[in-house]
Amino acid sequence: MAKTAKKKSGKKKTGGDRLQFQAEVGRLLDIVANSLYSEKEIFLRELISNASDACDRLRHAALTAPDLAAGDPDYKIAITIDRAANTLAVADNGIGMNRDDLVDDLGTIARSGTAAFMGALKETEAKSEDGTADVNLIGQFGVGFYSAFMVADEVTVTTRKAGETSGWRWVSDGKGEFTVEAADGATRGTTVTMVLKDNAGEYLEPARIRHIVKTYSDHVSFPILLTVLATGDEDEGKDETEDESGTGEAVTDEIVNQASAIWARPKADIDEQTHKEFYHHVAHAMDDPWLTLHFKAEGMIEYTGLLYVPTARPFDIFHPERKSHVKLYVKRVFITDDCEALLPSWLRFLHGVVDSEDLPLNVSRELLQNNPVLTRIRAGVTSRVLNELTARAEKDPEGYAAFWEAFGAVVKEGLYEDFEHREKLLGLARFNGTADDELVGLADYVGRMKEGQEAIYYITADDLAQARRSPQLEGFRAKGIEVLLLADPIDEFWLPSVGVYETKPFKSVTRGGADLADIKSEDAAEADEKKEEPKPTEGLDALVALIKLELGEAVKDVRRSDRLTDSAVCLVADEGDIDMNLQRLLQQHNQLENALPRILEINPTHELVRRLAAGAAKDGAQDRLRDVGYLLLDQARILEGETVPDPVAYAKRMTSVMTAAFAED
Ligand code: ADP
Ligand code: MG
Repeated sequence: MAKTAKKKSGKKKTGGDRLQFQAEVGRLLDIVANSLYSEKEIFLRELISNASDACDRLRHAALTAPDLAAGDPDYKIAITIDRAANTLAVADNGIGMNRDDLVDDLGTIARSGTAAFMGALKETEAKSEDGTADVNLIGQFGVGFYSAFMVADEVTVTTRKAGETSGWRWVSDGKGEFTVEAADGATRGTTVTMVLKDNAGEYLEPARIRHIVKTYSDHVSFPILLTVLATGDEDEGKDETEDESGTGEAVTDEIVNQASAIWARPKADIDEQTHKEFYHHVAHAMDDPWLTLHFKAEGMIEYTGLLYVPTARPFDIFHPERKSHVKLYVKRVFITDDCEALLPSWLRFLHGVVDSEDLPLNVSRELLQNNPVLTRIRAGVTSRVLNELTARAEKDPEGYAAFWEAFGAVVKEGLYEDFEHREKLLGLARFNGTADDELVGLADYVGRMKEGQEAIYYITADDLAQARRSPQLEGFRAKGIEVLLLADPIDEFWLPSVGVYETKPFKSVTRGGADLADIKSEDAAEADEKKEEPKPTEGLDALVALIKLELGEAVKDVRRSDRLTDSAVCLVADEGDIDMNLQRLLQQHNQLENALPRILEINPTHELVRRLAAGAAKDGAQDRLRDVGYLLLDQARILEGETVPDPVAYAKRMTSVMTAAFAED
């Protein structure tokens, strides 16, 4: 065992190609090297995590090409402390890297986790007053391999890729450059050797290393061996000779982790800390899991699942690939982390492992596509997750609300594309509403519907603030009728396809008539009194006719509104037409060439409308009210957050109306 670390590196810096790190890596390394981040020990977790991934990858590749692992089939991770050389090494006999891999993987920011760190760093930089970045974020994100430079002055990576004959050595002091040269005689796998910084002597202490491994890497399923090389202190003078029995003799050589797949252990044996660390490892994430699901399905088919729901929404959750993040294992052997058939993509916020007892080990990609076992696993896991979420929503509404804020938009994709689970998903859905600041579920919404209210009202908009400001809500607010505020793009798609919840249809408040008259408001009596149907605004019909004439094709219709209280006008889509917000969405994405004309509604109780109507009844109205139609239409557009299509014309009209209003006589 000690043999691997026997050769003391001769530190020849001469040979090889000198290469520059990608600019972003350079910056990252600067931060890493100068970071005062206190938990530097996480570098070991990162290196072990890479070693474990490398073993997983080779074990999988060797299923179909056994030669790849020939000669050294027992996967392991070896940590070697060499006090004499002041080095700590982490070695694995996994997949290894060739020259291209080395340059790509250890010279650029390849991993999403690291990219996310850089992104978050920029954000804190921009937000902070003195323009400094919050370097402690390293702890939250982990910067993978590069974290080695928190404790090392120089890092050497010696590696040979499985199935290839030449080995390679990568060396860097983490200051902008690295070298790559051929390394004759490198064994399969990868050894990362760190020359420790002066203040990093603690990592030469076996007890310290043991503790770090226990803390962060106990879940790793391969044995992690710790070897401490003899220093030669005990027998001074022998230093020079370095004979077989001298240096290289192991003082300790022990397995320091549990070395069994965590999901295969009994539930009760896994503590929270171990879950946390395993989650960090499988998810490449640094938050804590909000929910942990560990289960074993027995019977016709057998499988184990260990799944985590993150607390925080990962930055790439809306990546168009919509990839699942759950890894598929077969009898403890890693198969793939890219199995589309394992889970529906609206569950892609899940991280973890599903391990099947029934699939063949050498299962191929093609076989995974239409595999009946996998289909059953998918159904089983999906319903377990849905049941657990349903239970959570009941037991811990606050925690569930936070989950929904983070992942609701993803779950809602299921409403659209997964008919089978629609009912359950509708029960899980939460919405912002006009009633209060809490999220509301559909059952609660229906429970507090007003007498005479038949539909579940909603409005869709680009964002919640915009939705809240919409004039179309006024009449609903006035009557105390709750309206759901929807601001995820997916809402435009699931709503029409779902249509009803139990027996209640969903109805947009920006499309069709509002039919508010049939719904009793809270203080119905009072409202009725106040209302006494305002004297049918004189001239209103004439005004409507005038505006229609002016606007022509620019609108589908002009009509009096029963949904406005404060605003003079608003726009709505005609029943059966594309809803307002969807139209905007389609236009933004160039999916809709010509906007459909919409309906301009005017508020008969509004002072402006009253005056215009009065004017419309008089002689010469057409002349005096010229421009009024377009001014009202443009105002309605502005209320929608839209741009005015002809700003010059708008300004001219506005100017002439104001000039008339401020006429001296
Ligand atoms: P991550 O592990 O998130 O991908 P790292 O910075 O830790 O990011 O590693 C970058 C890449 O370098 C890995 O994705 C992998 O391709 C390669 N790599 C790192 N360590 C090893 C190793 N021990 N064996 C093989 N490949 C490795
Ligand atoms: Mg890593």
